[in-house]
Amino acid sequence: MNSAFVKIAIDGGAGTGKSTTSRLLSKRLSLLHVDTGSHYRSLTKYFLNRKIKPTDLVEYLNINKVPFSSRVLDGKSSLLIDGIEADLRDLRSEEVNSHVSHYASQQIVRDMLFSYQRSQVDLARENLFSGVVMEGRDIGTVILPEADLKVFLSAQEKVREQRRTDDGEIDQILSRDFKDSNRSSAPLMESTGCLRIDTTYVNAEEVYSTIRNALPLP
Ligand code: C5P
Repeated sequence: MNSAFVKIAIDGGAGTGKSTTSRLLSKRLSLLHVDTGSHYRSLTKYFLNRKIKPTDLVEYLNINKVPFSSRVLDGKSSLLIDGIEADLRDLRSEEVNSHVSHYASQQIVRDMLFSYQRSQVDLARENLFSGVVMEGRDIGTVILPEADLKVFLSAQEKVREQRRTDDGEIDQILSRDFKDSNRSSAPLMESTGCLRIDTTYVNAEEVYSTIRNALPLP
């Protein structure tokens, strides 16, 4: 690998600790944090606002453009659509939680985001980060298969549900995971050669250390 720049892919189901882990890695190693779940959430909110159903997307996108750009703040990149960043409360709402997997299973939505998500690596370089940590469901398998380290997080269902409740969210994480794991395009699955970490009984510091020790960095 190029020792000056590192790419880390973090995949896993809902509530497995992807965001906490990515935030820690971003802060301590000066990596750009890219949360691809928020991209799917932003698009979901955008289409829901316009009353475009997942099945109507192909027709809608034939005649309408959805322009993307990014804002980098505090080590994290956010997706802007039409120059606007969605409100975090909207992105984590029950409405978006219950619809996002339906939109994310559409090939046209994944195609829309593929180049944008890959371009985040260049964005990290341009902004002089030491690398990128990208979290999602298909980062190690589809978006960054060449990543220097691919991590797959898991945790027991009860613990994952409790984490979501502690976040104050109404979220049917098991049905989302089922839909995400069983779709035909880019399903949630482990990538070849990934580092597997079960976060059920370990805290964020321990997860960070395991990943840090596996990184080919000095
Ligand atoms: O990570 P988060 O729970 O915010 O992701 C929300 C949803 O976005 C997932 O349940 C999944 O349907 C979709 N997603 C995806 N591929 C990614 C990231 C998220 O399909 N890389």
